Amino acid sequence: MTHVALVGAGPGDPDLLTLKAFRLIQQADILLYDSLADARIVRMAASDCETIDVGKRCGKHSASQREICELLVAAARTGAKVVRLKGGDPMIFGRATEEMAALDAAGIAYEIVPGITAATAAAASLQKSLTKRATARSLHFLTGHGAEGGLPAHDWVSLTKSGGTLVVYMGARTLAGLAAHFIEAGMDPATPAIAVENASLATQRNVSATIATLPRILAAMTTTGPVLLLIGAAMDEAGMVERELEDVSTSFL
Ligand code: SAH
Repeated sequence: MTHVALVGAGPGDPDLLTLKAFRLIQQADILLYDSLADARIVRMAASDCETIDVGKRCGKHSASQREICELLVAAARTGAKVVRLKGGDPMIFGRATEEMAALDAAGIAYEIVPGITAATAAAASLQKSLTKRATARSLHFLTGHGAEGGLPAHDWVSLTKSGGTLVVYMGARTLAGLAAHFIEAGMDPATPAIAVENASLATQRNVSATIATLPRILAAMTTTGPVLLLIGAAMDEAGMVERELEDVSTSFL
């Protein structure tokens, strides 16, 4: 029987947890969570569950990925029911690979419980579909943060040419560089771009601008929560895009 689960906590709103995540959290003996996990979700654990904050260990620094893997394996070896709670979906920019490898190396079985990722939570709250017939035929999840700390070496031209919706995780600090690369690769500077802070929470803030103007607007703001960037024609004012689509469909009648 599997006693270890990497569980998606969703974007923050506890109502967006899956029933499976809820059940496993309630049954857990040991719960390892990081800074993106909402306190209300952590409090769903039983009163005798050992909850370990690996995001702000000792109130000072985050545990390194290596330390987290070691803690996870040590917890699993006790035979306890272990939940490793991760923000959003564990398989999307969640460092799940490292944790699965550590468990595999220790011969410990585990299961993965998906969660609602920031992109779909943001789209739902913005009431903007990430894909749209004739407007956005593909969807790309990118990281704005390279392994070495700077911008990742994306294929800016291919991404721009795709014309799909680009969703950037961990991109608030590197947005100026990202925008410059996209515009240089041929993206229309008027392409809609939206920044969403704290998607799904009462503290959510949205900034709608263009790929050319969003970097300066965001730089002038103080953000404390996680920020997601959504770029592409589908992020335009809903009414305008719908009208264009109506024109397209009537011309086929
Ligand atoms: N596994 C997570 C992503 C972790 S990477 C998921 O599937 O959502 C961390 C990045 O996710 C943040 O820098 C931010 O870009 C994004 N993010 C996570 N939660 C968010 C939220 N509630 N609102 C906005 N962005 C969020």
